[in-house]
Amino acid sequence: MGNLYIYKCKNCQSEIEYKTGGGFFTSEYFEETEKLTNQFKDEALSGKYGKIIKAIAENNDGNIEYNRNTKLFRCNECKAVNVLRAKEISNFPYIKSEYSLSVKISVQCPECHKGIMETVNLFEPIWCEKCQDYSSELISFGFWD
Ligand SMILES: [Zn+2]
Ligand SMILES: [Zn+2]
Repeated sequence: MGNLYIYKCKNCQSEIEYKTGGGFFTSEYFEETEKLTNQFKDEALSGKYGKIIKAIAENNDGNIEYNRNTKLFRCNECKAVNVLRAKEISNFPYIKSEYSLSVKISVQCPECHKGIMETVNLFEPIWCEKCQDYSSELISFGFWD
């Protein structure tokens, strides 16, 4: 299960479809997510993302979610749009707490290896490769399972 995004370029009319997932569609996906999540957690605990995240991870073990689900991203350098694994740390919303935590670790662009991926704002058009312009607009958003 996940989200479905269909973009259409207002210049060249080309359509492009992106699927992201929050659910566990297949056992492979589930296993991969679990593996990546554990890796991510180990990295946080080892101090890879700095002392603050390390301290949070150590002091809240079990109450933190390490999200490695796929999301729609856009590169801030080459403008490429891609479905990639997010790297987000947050405290579980259903556990009562005095604070709410949300950390996003930057994800590097797999196309240009220079840019940082940013979450796509659904109200803004995305880059069309053909037209070399921000001319592709979201025409349909839905869920799939
Ligand atoms: Zn176009
Ligand atoms: Zn890029």
